[in-house]
Amino acid sequence: MKFVIAQMLHESHTFIPQLTTLGDFNPLGGGMPFEGENAVAALRGRNSSATAFLDLAENTGADVVVPIAGQALPSGPVEDSAFEYFCEKITAAVKKGCDAVLLDLHGAMAAPAYPDAEGELLYRIRSIVPEIPIALALDFHCIITPKMVDNATVISIYRTTPHIDMYETGQRAGATLLNHLKGKYGAVTVARRIPLMASLENMGNDTPPMKQLIEMLQQMEADQPEILNAGLSGGHPFSDIAPGGMTAVFVTDKNPEKGAAAAEKLLKTAWDSRYDLIYQPEPCRKSLEYAKSLDEGPIIMADSGDIPSSGGYGADMTVLKEAAAMGFEDIGVGPVFDPESARTMFAAGVGSEVTLALGGKTQVPLLNYVSAPMQISGIVKAVSDAPITLTGPMLKGLTISLGRMAVLSTGSMEIMVTEKRGEAIDLGILTHMGINPAKKKYMLIKSRQHFRAAFGPIARHMLWVCGPGPTSSDVTGFPFEHIERPVFPLDKDVRFRLDRLGKW
Ligand SMILES: [Zn+2]
Repeated sequence: MKFVIAQMLHESHTFIPQLTTLGDFNPLGGGMPFEGENAVAALRGRNSSATAFLDLAENTGADVVVPIAGQALPSGPVEDSAFEYFCEKITAAVKKGCDAVLLDLHGAMAAPAYPDAEGELLYRIRSIVPEIPIALALDFHCIITPKMVDNATVISIYRTTPHIDMYETGQRAGATLLNHLKGKYGAVTVARRIPLMASLENMGNDTPPMKQLIEMLQQMEADQPEILNAGLSGGHPFSDIAPGGMTAVFVTDKNPEKGAAAAEKLLKTAWDSRYDLIYQPEPCRKSLEYAKSLDEGPIIMADSGDIPSSGGYGADMTVLKEAAAMGFEDIGVGPVFDPESARTMFAAGVGSEVTLALGGKTQVPLLNYVSAPMQISGIVKAVSDAPITLTGPMLKGLTISLGRMAVLSTGSMEIMVTEKRGEAIDLGILTHMGINPAKKKYMLIKSRQHFRAAFGPIARHMLWVCGPGPTSSDVTGFPFEHIERPVFPLDKDVRFRLDRLGKW
């Protein structure tokens, strides 16, 4: 048996003007995505679905070809040429002959010419070998499209947010595909969509109502032998890709009716909880006042308005300015994305006194978003340009580069500044620069959900302190053009509607 295994991971924020390049798919930045033996080596020991595919192939004695493996931080749409490069590599490997294709994809990747990038990739593979079994592992924030459903044999979706089950998702998708290949099952995938745009803040799998929805689908999978793989996609509000919304995907053993009934039941439950799936941010001043009333740290304050893991910059200074004005002491901050300030501090060196116009240099014309820097002075406490190997649990084992980095100390604040975008989803990013979140009274980071996996075990309190920015939960002013309308809560008087995606 021979498998083609590939990874093409990108969540596209379609309102961000900067396009994502091929070089961005190398986490060390600037290089090309990994290919062949280098891709296999880069995937080994990681918490990724592609890693699970490789292990499955090894355990079954299958030969493996990995034409390409790349993962880019969420950002603007992917350049057409970069998308074509991925397609070219994967389809060339498939053309040489294989028994199955296993793909580690995000599901909300858009290229200007192909807004449904994953659907297009699958369509091209099927055009070469119409009957080839294809297994997909997708992010929980994927946008399921008819093209994806009709061209995939098995679809499996992460069940955790913060995402920590990428490996398990790959295992599920791979195991179902293997049984399909052996003739034990005849996998048929069914998908249904409802017009609901949930807030990312309310998609944590450990808080209601998402907790109950995930438990419900797991129970359906356990109780009904015809359901091989049950999945729910929360959708992604910053990817203006049709159809959008929330989707249930059920892989069945030749029983699409049972899959459709289960999907309907799950989505009806989600719809009934729709008001609890919407987050209403409060003014950041109010959240900061609450944080200040707490006695004991570490108090982790997460600002979701401009975060890299949703495609933002990590550069908005609104909340930090407010916290500084309120006199917060013993506060660690960062990373703040500001290439200019990072280079200035790196060149000045440890011990130098610097005055900076920090952060706030980004704008998103489509969203009428303009930021402003913070005037600040302090001492450079640390500098580095070394790659950082993440300690997990989310991206354990992944080595990234944030370019030149420095820490600015003002006495009351220690602020990590980076040349490249990066999010505090891993304690290693901050400890690498000498900021130990476990020892700080306050941490002000830019993140929404993913920080909880690493900060949860060390935090006394965690709360959202939301500022403005391109990844704010309030998307009512976003100029959506492609998602199907009406959709709750953007439109008024939206009724429950179950849309079929794909053939079944
Ligand atoms: Zn996600």
